[in-house]
Amino acid sequence: MFIDLRSDTVTLPSPAMRAAMAAAPLGDDVFGEDPTVNRLEALAAERLGKEAALFVASGTMGNLVSLLAHCGRGDEAIMGDAAHTYIYEQGGAAALGGIHPRALPTLPDGSLRLEDIVAAIRSDDQHFPISRLVCLENTHNRAGGAVLTPAYTAAVADLAHSHGLKLHIDGARIFHAAVALQVEARELAGGADSITFCLSKGLAAPVGSVVCGEAGFIRRARRARKALGGGMRQAGVLAAAGIVALEEMVERLAEDHAHARQLAEGLASLPGIAVELDRVQTNIVIFSLDRPDLSPAELIARLRQRQVGLLAIGGKRLRAVTHYGITAEHIAAAIAAFAAVLCQ
Ligand SMILES: *Cc1c(COP(=O)(O)O)cnc(C)c1O
Repeated sequence: MFIDLRSDTVTLPSPAMRAAMAAAPLGDDVFGEDPTVNRLEALAAERLGKEAALFVASGTMGNLVSLLAHCGRGDEAIMGDAAHTYIYEQGGAAALGGIHPRALPTLPDGSLRLEDIVAAIRSDDQHFPISRLVCLENTHNRAGGAVLTPAYTAAVADLAHSHGLKLHIDGARIFHAAVALQVEARELAGGADSITFCLSKGLAAPVGSVVCGEAGFIRRARRARKALGGGMRQAGVLAAAGIVALEEMVERLAEDHAHARQLAEGLASLPGIAVELDRVQTNIVIFSLDRPDLSPAELIARLRQRQVGLLAIGGKRLRAVTHYGITAEHIAAAIAAFAAVLCQ
């Protein structure tokens, strides 16, 4: 059996999700008439402590409609240079919205320095774009799933608001952060004007993300979603799985975190592998391979022959992600496969 640690996006829906999908009452969601989508949106808004929510096709679409709803053409959005929105979303906010990204150094813990944010906010000068938005990411993908705390997020929100800017959180894995910190997700979204989270990663739903924020913002995001071709009709078949994801799949993320730690500790003892154990806080393990005889691509190919899947993320760095389809036995088998490749 293939132990797929490439991403938590590979998770398959649970039996309860399949049953809920089959039984879901449906309607036309563009008319606002899909009761299951409406239920998911109300539940998500409640969980994130926001007024309203919008079901979208993906995390990328959630971030894009959020940026389009907050910013006009030529406005500037401040974000980390390692942010998913900056690196992995094709520059969609610039390409489709004319939004100017301002990239600040991302610290190893996934945060941005408050001083850097203040320094990046533009003064009122006709030479400059207008600073409109700050974006954070929690958990932080490129920072190995590191979590941002409620206190840090509130400090960034206060800073943004005191300068007339909004705060958006790319919370693709916000429930992982909440479980790791043992807080409610709404505490992590506290001061933010908007937050996106993914149903289709660790929460194991087959498709979809949700954007949450105040009602006026969600109205604008809904318009943007329609323009992008994301107005879906009987989307309740998908939203039904999302409701199960929120109701049944959040608490179990602690298992994924324990498995990531088990993997990180196993890898740390192998020759040529370096893992920063402090950085393994949730379900992502980023490690580097430093061996003259083996490139990351070769390691991946050899592990694939032993039924273990990983991703290379640039340079000497590789990534493994734990999820609903991965057990402690799989992790033990994966560590044994690494040892067989690295110690032979
Ligand atoms: C996966 C991810 C996204 C995008 O989600 P898709 O559903 O793959 O478009 C956005 N932000 C972060 C931090 C992610 O990990």
